[in-house]
Amino acid sequence: MAGHDRRRFIAYGLQASALICVSAAAGPACVDPDDLSDSVQGMRDSLEYTDAAADPKQACRACSYFKPAKASDDCAHCEVLNSPVRASGHCVSWTKRA
Ligand code: SF4
Repeated sequence: MAGHDRRRFIAYGLQASALICVSAAAGPACVDPDDLSDSVQGMRDSLEYTDAAADPKQACRACSYFKPAKASDDCAHCEVLNSPVRASGHCVSWTKRA
């Protein structure tokens, strides 16, 4: 019984660690969703915006619509979503920066 509980504890710990790693990779959100208008939030949803691009080569940082003040900025305005997005983010309107 104790061995079973130990295995379950370890399994939960690994799952929690995996979730923390995914969150840390994306970093904190650039904007509180509660601060966005319904139309902006709707656009983010319809274009499937995420803070963590599945393919880092197609992250917002490499998109022509991402407008950082400095190249190293982790958050910047997106001209399509008309709101702040993460450099590590992505949406279906991704367009390779020229
Ligand atoms: S259009 Fe999409 S991929 Fe490009 S910067 Fe905006 S959110 Fe990121």
